[in-house]
Amino acid sequence: MKCQFAAGAASALGAFLYFCCALPSQAAEFDALRQKMVEEVVASSGSTPPDPSVMAAMGKVERHRFVPGWLAPFAYRNHPLPIGYGQTISQPLIVARMTDLLNIKEGDTVLEIGTGSGYQAAVLAEMAKSVYSIEIIEPLGKQAAERLKSLGYENVETRVGDGYYGWPEAAPFDAIIVTAAASHVPPPLLKQLKLGGRMVIPLGASFMTQYLMLVEKQQDGSVTTRQIVPVRFVPLSGGH
Ligand code: SAH
Repeated sequence: MKCQFAAGAASALGAFLYFCCALPSQAAEFDALRQKMVEEVVASSGSTPPDPSVMAAMGKVERHRFVPGWLAPFAYRNHPLPIGYGQTISQPLIVARMTDLLNIKEGDTVLEIGTGSGYQAAVLAEMAKSVYSIEIIEPLGKQAAERLKSLGYENVETRVGDGYYGWPEAAPFDAIIVTAAASHVPPPLLKQLKLGGRMVIPLGASFMTQYLMLVEKQQDGSVTTRQIVPVRFVPLSGGH
């Protein structure tokens, strides 16, 4: 009897110690993995290292909170991961490159098409004044909105809808990022870009070579387009 009591007390103590010690050490482990991910992204960026402000933002955002729980241990690998509904969270290297190309400044207002997990929106929110993000798949959009709120990202507004048409009430934007592949630059998005603004968008059909494009709207209203790197994104869906 006495022995049973002692065993019970020991396992209760064990559980207590687990909750007190294991959780903080798990957080420290994720912090270390995130730091390693940042170093790996910089190392694999070659001749185009992202601005330190981009890497600082990615060093802060807890990517493991944006993937399904069972994938959390893999969250800091330089890979895309499934987030449900046939969609993926982009590879960290691509997130870094796209964010870098946007040249975000502190006072900027940014539009994202394709909220997905909300990870890219969180990275943008660390750098810009406000972020607007649109997702077409309702459960993904709702989940991301709750996640961003619970993580304290108060400068992100989300909406469920077809991002092809942008967010006219919040326009014009300093920067626009499209995180799904389109066949062409959506004219409503170009219209909602400020003079001097930048848009990053993967162009090309799904299952074919797609290219990440940098679209710049010059001060005189003319538009220049530059092909950056071949990429692979899920297609931009919707009724357009
Ligand atoms: N930026 C996301 C990853 C995006 S994956 C992240 O950080 O996790 C691409 C997302 O674009 C998917 O969630 C997909 O549902 C969404 N999408 C596809 N077409 C869309 C459209 N027309 N409007 C808004 N979102 C769209």
